[in-house]
Amino acid sequence: MRRGGGRLSRGPSRGLRRHHPSRSPGLGLVERPGSDTRPDRPAAFHCGWLLDGSGAGARRDVVLTVAGGRIDDIFPAAEGYQGLAPLDWRAFTVLPPLVDAHVHLFLSGRNDPVLRRRQLDPGPEYVFRHMADRIRRYLRRGILAVRDGGDHGALALALRDRYRQGRPDGFVLRAAGRAWHRAGRYGGVFGRSPAENQRLAEAVAADGRGIDQVKIINSGINSLTDFGRQTRPQFDPDDLKAAVAAAHRRGLPVMVHANGVQPVADALAAGCDSIEHGFFMGETNMARMAARETIWVPTAGTMAGCLGTLAPGSPEADGARRLLDHQVAQLARARALGVTVAAGTDAGSPGVRHGRAMATELGLMTAAGYCLGETVRCAAAHGARLLGLDRPGVLRPGAPADFIAVTGPPEALWKSLEQVRAVYRNGLPLSSSLALPGMTAGG
Ligand SMILES: [Zn+2]
Repeated sequence: MRRGGGRLSRGPSRGLRRHHPSRSPGLGLVERPGSDTRPDRPAAFHCGWLLDGSGAGARRDVVLTVAGGRIDDIFPAAEGYQGLAPLDWRAFTVLPPLVDAHVHLFLSGRNDPVLRRRQLDPGPEYVFRHMADRIRRYLRRGILAVRDGGDHGALALALRDRYRQGRPDGFVLRAAGRAWHRAGRYGGVFGRSPAENQRLAEAVAADGRGIDQVKIINSGINSLTDFGRQTRPQFDPDDLKAAVAAAHRRGLPVMVHANGVQPVADALAAGCDSIEHGFFMGETNMARMAARETIWVPTAGTMAGCLGTLAPGSPEADGARRLLDHQVAQLARARALGVTVAAGTDAGSPGVRHGRAMATELGLMTAAGYCLGETVRCAAAHGARLLGLDRPGVLRPGAPADFIAVTGPPEALWKSLEQVRAVYRNGLPLSSSLALPGMTAGG
């Protein structure tokens, strides 16, 4: 029995303490995980609503208790406070921290052509400074882990290495380094090609850098003016299969950028771990993904972002709108077929801004028929699984006490995620200091 007389009992109930997350220490990095025995550390929270990330709908008026950095219990407030003195979070919705499963930290997502050109080769210190700022934006929105899909300078990977030398702050950056693409095909901005006469599998096997996952680009990108145009796979299917096997032998998962029926089919047959984008992949591929439990990262919001950068009424805007509708329709089919979807934004793409794009992506899942609890599961638990995090992304007894609070009921989530009011990790609020040692210019 967990409650009443347990570790958390603090004697006679003192009732609710008025407490607003906004007045608690602001967001940031770092409080070292530790015990929750300090008297100013809340051990219980009366939550107005709780989305536990399991896929279930929101629970109303529950008490969440914390002990030893872990969730101790979750129970209806109607049962009484069991001798606890919870913080008053009745105005807030509590949910697990989110994971953005597809970003490019080296790009801003602004649609300024001059800036975008400059971002491609501005010198590493400029990029490091801006990447650190983007990570702060993720933290402010309760996104505590991102998976970077690559850049031609492997700068996100270098940032991760700098960042590892700093204090532990709970933010996880998984980096692919440089993505692989075929010479002469799409993808140069995000990576490199195997050497001449070198097979992809040889290149993957020979790449010694300490990456977190291998990123392979196996198709082109969508056409805004030729709706539904599909591009050939970039790599020979046998080579692709050998490359995935080589990565797996190194203990590395493989994310494959693939649009169109054949590029996706080849990636699935090769045994990849996730399909990125997957526009026009079709239902047969989705059924295969469901059967193999391959994770899909649809990045539907890329088309919403793109749409926002185009002149209304232009053929390109019309094309982006159709692509967006197409991907939402595929999402609806994927849900029906039981495909595991992880939320990824492709932040850094034109019009797709770091941090704030997550709400757009989740809103599109809702448009595809996902209920609120399911969208949170895609953005938390499925992301956690894809990134191999050591926490489940689900709020349940025994799990690390990682959670975020936003204002208002869950129906307002798409707006309220813009202003996350509290972020807790291991039962402790992240501190107001946003210093990222080693991540600033010259640091
Ligand atoms: Zn990408």
